[in-house]
Amino acid sequence: MQEILNEIVAELAQETERGNVADYIPQLAHVDPSQFAISLATVEGERFSAGCATTPFSIQSISKVFTLTIALGKWGDGLWSKVGREPSGDPFNSIVQLEHEGGKPRNPFINAGAIAVVDAIMMGHEPKETLAEILSFVRYIADDNSICFDHQVAASEMEHKDRNASLAHFMKAFGRLRHDVDKVLGTYFHQCAIAMSSDQLAHAGLFLASDGVNRPSNLRVVSPQRARRINSLMMLCGHYDASGEFAFRVGLPGKSGVGGGILAIAPGRGSLAVWSPGLDRYGNSLLGTRALEMFVQRTGWSVFGH
Ligand code: GLU
Repeated sequence: MQEILNEIVAELAQETERGNVADYIPQLAHVDPSQFAISLATVEGERFSAGCATTPFSIQSISKVFTLTIALGKWGDGLWSKVGREPSGDPFNSIVQLEHEGGKPRNPFINAGAIAVVDAIMMGHEPKETLAEILSFVRYIADDNSICFDHQVAASEMEHKDRNASLAHFMKAFGRLRHDVDKVLGTYFHQCAIAMSSDQLAHAGLFLASDGVNRPSNLRVVSPQRARRINSLMMLCGHYDASGEFAFRVGLPGKSGVGGGILAIAPGRGSLAVWSPGLDRYGNSLLGTRALEMFVQRTGWSVFGH
């Protein structure tokens, strides 16, 4: 495995076309696009990594997997009355579908859906209480108490919040959000601004690869059924309107973020995290996707086989 990761890093280092870093969040525009990391945590407890695998980056929408897990813990299947579970086929920040579906977002991984999920988690609490809950969950599954929010990224997103604010106000107008829009947005932006390295992220995803059990503590995080369902959602909705393309090329449940990270789950085998800040036109990491494609080609770890 280590050899495979080294080969991927060496091969992609030659690449000159690396995509464009997200600049609609100005703080992310400063990230050096030449950085690359890949980490693998296996269900047997092995760890492999290559590139700058201990450098923290903004996990952005990958955090939506963790908030979905928390929200399902609070609401169970009741969550599905607040957010759907169908692929959107639209960009991550699209508003159009909300109008057709009574303000109900299509899935928890598009921005509107993730904002509705945060609102569901808040349950009358203040943003700082909800954020403490989200952070402690992420620290627990990553087994690392050093993980923090990047407050500069959160502030940068708050300053340029118009698009997400429209989504939130639109949902509120349909009676879909219970809390104050600014409080929900502030919570959402901080959740997206969690900074993690690919090593930490691969570790955090491991419970989804091992039927809901956290490794190495062997404590159950979610039931096997819930882990399977979260993986299905990642497979169908984790890459926005390029989810089909990701399934075609990689064939693993995955969730991308505009910080250039991707978390991919190989059920029963392991959890992979890649980071390359340059994005393709759908907002997914260009080289990160390539790296995962190379990985499954070499290992046969796609859920669809070789
Ligand atoms: N915080 C980002 C936003 O709301 C998340 C988008 C993403 O990572 O895809 O625009």
